[in-house]
Amino acid sequence: MSPGIRALTHQDTIARQFDRCVKCGLCLPHCPTYNLTLDESESPRGRIALAQAMASGQLAPSERLQAHLDHCLVCRACERACPAEVSYAELIDSTRVLLAQVDRAPRRERQLRNLFARHSRAARSLLSMARAWHRSALRPVARRSGVLRALGVENLDAALPESTSRFDGAPSYRPSVDVRGEVALFTGCTSPLLDGETVQAAVEVLTALGFGVVIPEQSCCGAMHQHGGDDRNALELALANARAFELLQVDAVLGVASGCTATLSEYHKLEPPSAEERQCLGRLGAKVHDINAFLNAAEWPQSVHLAPLRARVLVHEPCSLRNVLRAEAEPYALLQRIPELTVAPMPGNNRCCGGAGLYIVTQADIARTLRQPKLAALAEHPPEYVATSNVGCALHLKAGIEELGLPTEVVHPVTLLARQLGVAAHA
Ligand code: SF4
Ligand code: SF4
Repeated sequence: MSPGIRALTHQDTIARQFDRCVKCGLCLPHCPTYNLTLDESESPRGRIALAQAMASGQLAPSERLQAHLDHCLVCRACERACPAEVSYAELIDSTRVLLAQVDRAPRRERQLRNLFARHSRAARSLLSMARAWHRSALRPVARRSGVLRALGVENLDAALPESTSRFDGAPSYRPSVDVRGEVALFTGCTSPLLDGETVQAAVEVLTALGFGVVIPEQSCCGAMHQHGGDDRNALELALANARAFELLQVDAVLGVASGCTATLSEYHKLEPPSAEERQCLGRLGAKVHDINAFLNAAEWPQSVHLAPLRARVLVHEPCSLRNVLRAEAEPYALLQRIPELTVAPMPGNNRCCGGAGLYIVTQADIARTLRQPKLAALAEHPPEYVATSNVGCALHLKAGIEELGLPTEVVHPVTLLARQLGVAAHA
């Protein structure tokens, strides 16, 4: 598709959503950035108007316009509240493509998302160095001296928690009891590098329940590209995933990070050039499930028992799980299977925590401001665990909890389940 036709398509998407918006303002109280500023330009309704003005040529792209649009977390709380069913995500994604075409997309953001999506070996090396750096005695000195800020890496340094884990497991696992089915895991680009314990836990629980597990070679889900104005690479990554999973004889594809699962579930909305590619994307999307929901729906063998856990867990509801997959009840149901565990919602679950992918680096101040009330609530009466189903939120919350020195561990619900099972996976 030529750049001109691409621009027309995105202008059309923006115009359609703008026309659908009845300007009622019901979305405003649900928008985290509007709540921080009470500025119409930082609200969904304001951004819709700005996007249409820019797309129709009434408003030239400027730094100020860019900032209002960049501050959006794509949390989609506005979509959930909207009575007119405005597809806000489609509008903001198209708007960011148009901004990228006039080269207003931040260069550092492009480099970071391509590092994870395209250069996983380089990302691995960088993260190994980051882990060593976190343990180094130089780090507190460098943080105090301001040298990290001078180098432009202060936000990146603060965004990464000390406790991350890698997954270097096998590509397939046999079930530990009678076979009930075969599933594939979608781990994406970030979980194996920064949240390996969750991937390992997913394998352990699934095999204990009788599922064979396959983890094929796969790409980044493309969410960072899609929401960052890079629609071409988003489509390329989606097609690579659709082809990789299509070859597998599996009953379901399970996402361990709700942000990736939400993206895969909407692959059918992408517009590849051919009908065959569209069908291929749709087939993957139709097989994708959130792992919490899948485990709740599965029949558990009578031989599987969970050990009691005398502790309190607060459930954090990622925006992707709430506002896109609409599956926020699933982690509660799953965790309630653990005897003696007290399961309760984390205060402020209706508001984004700020851990929206690269947002924690590119809009670090807003991300930290949004996280602050959640940390304050935890500090009042720290639970033993916070359970979240999205890797981005987990990293962001972990970093804040470590900064405050709270005795709370951030885990995926499936990780707590696996610990209570105590079953080893058979590669
Ligand atoms: S997606 Fe979230 S941050 Fe963006 S306008 Fe909607 S509610 Fe506000
Ligand atoms: S709730 Fe929907 S229709 Fe109303 S202002 Fe917000 S986006 Fe527009």
